[in-house]
Amino acid sequence: MNVSADCLFCRIARGEIPSRKVHEDAEVLAFHDIHPAAPVHFLMIPKSHVDSLLTSGSEHEAVLGKMVALAPRLAQEQGCGNGFRLVINNGPDGGQEVNHLHIHIMGGPRPWKRM
Ligand code: 5GP
Ligand code: ZN
Repeated sequence: MNVSADCLFCRIARGEIPSRKVHEDAEVLAFHDIHPAAPVHFLMIPKSHVDSLLTSGSEHEAVLGKMVALAPRLAQEQGCGNGFRLVINNGPDGGQEVNHLHIHIMGGPRPWKRM
């Protein structure tokens, strides 16, 4: 497991910083975003640190596939049975602010921000 001592999301994964958990297993953690941009907005991270898709490789295929496959179940459990959106911001020009790869999972009744 690749971990970073001062990475915010590694610290959340270790339980050093509290979060409102949606799901946890050996490889993945999902928790509510502290500043929700939609009625339902949570984040899913691999517990093993990787900065973003810019620095991920074939060794991450399994966990990335697991995360995308898990998203619809968690979204529906959070009340997004009518649909949801996945967003991954990558790097400065991608608007990424926390440099630990994460999927935003957003949904709930509209209106909320269009893309
Ligand atoms: P990014 O802009 O990097 O794609 O998204 C980072 C997300 O992390 C933002 O939506 C922000 O609200 C959320 N966030 C930042 N700090 C914390 C925190 O300490 N706890 C939680 N739960 N979310 C955070
Ligand atoms: Zn990290």
